[in-house]
Amino acid sequence: MDDDATDNHLRTTGPHTEDRAEDRPEDRPEDRPEGHAGDHAVVLGAGLAGLLAARVLAMRFPRVTVIERDELSQEGPVFRAGIPQSRHTHVLWSRGVELIERMLPGITGKLLAAGAVLLDTPREFLWLSPADWFGPVQGARVLLASRELLDSTVRGEVLRNPRVRIRSGATAAGLLAGPDGRTVTGVRLRDGERLAARLVVDATGRTSKAPAWLTEIGHPAPAVTRYDSHLGYTSRYFEIPDDPARSWQGVYVQGRPDLPRGGVLMPLEGNRWLVTLVGNGEHAPPVKAEEFLPFARSLRSPALYDAIRDATPLSAPTAFRNTANEWRHYERLERWPDGFLVLGDAGCRFNPVYGHGMTVAALAAEALAKEIRTLDPERIAAASRRIQRRTSTVAAVPWQIATSEDLRYPVTEGPPPDRATRILQRYMSRVMAGANVDRTIAARFFGVLSLTRPPGTLLDPVTMLRVLSKRHLPADPDTTAYPPHHRAPAERGARRSA
Ligand SMILES: Cc1cc2nc3c(=O)[nH]c(=O)nc-3n(C[C@H](O)[C@H](O)[C@H](O)COP(=O)(O)OP(=O)(O)OC[C@H]3O[C@@H](n4cnc5c(N)ncnc54)[C@H](O)[C@@H]3O)c2cc1C
Repeated sequence: MDDDATDNHLRTTGPHTEDRAEDRPEDRPEDRPEGHAGDHAVVLGAGLAGLLAARVLAMRFPRVTVIERDELSQEGPVFRAGIPQSRHTHVLWSRGVELIERMLPGITGKLLAAGAVLLDTPREFLWLSPADWFGPVQGARVLLASRELLDSTVRGEVLRNPRVRIRSGATAAGLLAGPDGRTVTGVRLRDGERLAARLVVDATGRTSKAPAWLTEIGHPAPAVTRYDSHLGYTSRYFEIPDDPARSWQGVYVQGRPDLPRGGVLMPLEGNRWLVTLVGNGEHAPPVKAEEFLPFARSLRSPALYDAIRDATPLSAPTAFRNTANEWRHYERLERWPDGFLVLGDAGCRFNPVYGHGMTVAALAAEALAKEIRTLDPERIAAASRRIQRRTSTVAAVPWQIATSEDLRYPVTEGPPPDRATRILQRYMSRVMAGANVDRTIAARFFGVLSLTRPPGTLLDPVTMLRVLSKRHLPADPDTTAYPPHHRAPAERGARRSA
């Protein structure tokens, strides 16, 4: 990655004092002339999208301040209220791993040294698709770690760049703009403080207030497309039990429209499993501890239940319910202020079950890097509308994957599928079933799912021929108890209790 900043000293997360109004009463931002933002960029939100954006902006802006509502501990990976989803399974697809490694060289090694796991799915991650088990093929790599570890490691690496500071415990409350609203000139914090900036990036995630902030400065709010499959998550940590005969590292039992319940089990640092149960509508998983195992037993395969039935829980179950796909179409707005961008979940969020949000944040940061590579801060601000459009396009493929899959579930609310989507759904059913038995189809399917290959990969003539020639599609739920390459615990001689 091109970079102007070469100094790599670790910085504290302390405030960027030179921008605080109360620190320089003689030069408060409201007294400054418009445009006194210097070459300062402000990023709102220190989630993954905000941190990666800050890393990229530091290529061109001498000062980048990240404003984060939570108080950030410097003591490593800890849960924080601003990322409640961190208590639920997060997979980072190989494309996301590659991009983050490119932006923060050496980070993958640091994550692995701290206990993260990089593994091949489905070879090391048993995966029951809506049709059948995937075979032990090398489909795509995934990085598994707690969100706390991932975020704190990314934060530490981003802060090695001396141009970036984080102000934690500060809440953004609105945009500052010139009188005609044409240019965003900074940000207003909840305590009334005003920070001047040449560029403001909203990366405050799914609770973003950017539509209201835009209307406050005279701009229209964006149109919103929303698909809600009413998927509920309930997750719980377990200690990983000893089992020398265990031949896998994770398990994913997918639901399907006739039994919309599923579950994923993945290893985390600290010898823990994080187990997430999911279900649509009335099948949403319970939150009571005593109902966790019975729900796990009700899935299409006993594999996940068998794994945790005798394992020691390390936490109470926690729930997450707001999982709708929601795209705020900032890229369609005809009027857009200079000096403002919206990135990450704040712009487009996905049903998390497809595991794309973090990779999309990395793709958007990469798109931002391409756009600003040759621009100085002033021209970056002036190019905001174009940059907003370009960075939004990275959401298109994962959006198509998530919404067309969700639309298979009758409970899903949203615009009905068009004919092309219905054809795609039928074709993708065959792709998934074909991928269960054909290594070539599997490689391409996982290439697309991991956002490494374009969807056209599945539509080239050779792949289509392979997909459509599979006459015997395995779809019988009775055959789905265990994959052929992994026998049930009883057959392996493991202890089974009632
Ligand atoms: C249950 C669940 C499971 C998921 N699983 C996966 C997965 O397996 N794989 C995957 O890739 N993605 C997954 N995602 C998506 C992923 O969590 C997000 O896409 C990713 O975190 C990027 O989000 P973000 O940085 O845009 O926002 P967030 O991570 O939500 O960060 C937003 C930040 O902004 C801060 N903030 C909010 N408001 C303000 C304010 N006014 N002022 C200052 N700071 C503010 C918050 O405190 C927070 O730090 C999942 C999401 C959910 C909900």
